[in-house]
Amino acid sequence: MPEDRHYPSEAYSPDGTLWWQLKLTPGKKRRFGDEQKIAAYLACHVRKNGRFTMRELRAALGEATIPNDAEHLNRRLRNLRLRDGWDIPSAKDDGSLAHDEYLVRKIGWHPGTGAPRPTGDAPSEATRRKVFARDKSICQVCFTPGGEPYADMPDKMARPTLGHRVPGKRLDSKATVDELQTECARCNETVRDELFDPVTLPEILPTVRNLPRQAKKELLRWMQDGKRSASRAEQAYADLRRLSRDEQKQAVQILSRMVGDPRPGPQE
Ligand SMILES: [Zn+2]
Repeated sequence: MPEDRHYPSEAYSPDGTLWWQLKLTPGKKRRFGDEQKIAAYLACHVRKNGRFTMRELRAALGEATIPNDAEHLNRRLRNLRLRDGWDIPSAKDDGSLAHDEYLVRKIGWHPGTGAPRPTGDAPSEATRRKVFARDKSICQVCFTPGGEPYADMPDKMARPTLGHRVPGKRLDSKATVDELQTECARCNETVRDELFDPVTLPEILPTVRNLPRQAKKELLRWMQDGKRSASRAEQAYADLRRLSRDEQKQAVQILSRMVGDPRPGPQE
């Protein structure tokens, strides 16, 4: 990408950085989402009727931050098509394209438009409330309660979001309470991108390999089912956490006596 290339003003964020080179969301501490970056890059650099490859897209967004995984970018393009009104055929849809090429046939929403991003055909607020209430705002994937820090990232709090029980299935207003579940922003595929750096399979595989056989079997079942079931201790934990602070203290004392643990309760 030539540095001296002249872009229209809508290619630049309020601080003068090109949208697709932005690291943080303007005015916020969180990462600026890849979908917004891709939308701006396609609208202002590739432009209408322009062609691009995944490789060029990765280079434009900064190789280091994008996993070398076609599925990651494909998912982003899928969301632009479904949610933001983009028409971006691939060689599969348009025979005139080379096997690795994509065409910008119609430009949809991008951050340079100045309009808020479309929310899409989302489930109603009532549905959302019912799902959160049923799940007690606990992520059904990692079981981190909403508003509590992650065990492996004590400085990050789990934010409950609405997810679909079937991975990859879109949330729309037709989804029923039974089809939906609470997922924290880290576990939820559709919002994950904007908050956390993505992980890749090669990064996770060593951990999986080192699990005992029984744990591997359990893991396999969870992956096949698309969810893991809460243990009885986890269910009881979720219930205990909803008690008043005093009752939680009592519960800790009772439990300590049951197991003979002399440790005092949680610090204030
Ligand atoms: Zn989670």
